[in-house]
Amino acid sequence: MGSGQVKLLPICHKEADNLNILLVCGGAANVGLAGYLAAVELTKEGKARMCCITPVGAGIETYIDIARRAKKLVVINGCQNQCASRVLEQAGVKPDHVIVVSEVIKKIPTFDINEEDVQLVKRKIEEALED
Ligand code: SF4
Repeated sequence: MGSGQVKLLPICHKEADNLNILLVCGGAANVGLAGYLAAVELTKEGKARMCCITPVGAGIETYIDIARRAKKLVVINGCQNQCASRVLEQAGVKPDHVIVVSEVIKKIPTFDINEEDVQLVKRKIEEALED
């Protein structure tokens, strides 16, 4: 598929100052997946931009800078371990909002999630974006 057929997203580093940036843990259970899919939907709708959190954890300055410069920064953790928040903390960046998905839907070890759960998490992120 050529790039002409796909919708291109804003470049995180280039446009960070104008973006509501979502950093998602991407954890390997229902809560991580629901957070990820909700962030993908909001990104595709142009309401926010999910950017990469792994390079923030790896200490890559360009990506830490994206988090630092975000117009609004929302960090989305799958569960109470709050790995995504800890990654940001280690990088010395304070988010505007912290979401813990397991406070919205119950954490269970499955990838069989329903659309309703994704929408609940999405709504929670939207509330943070509107705040
Ligand atoms: S916050 Fe929870 S779901 Fe997310 S990566 Fe950490 S342990 Fe996994």
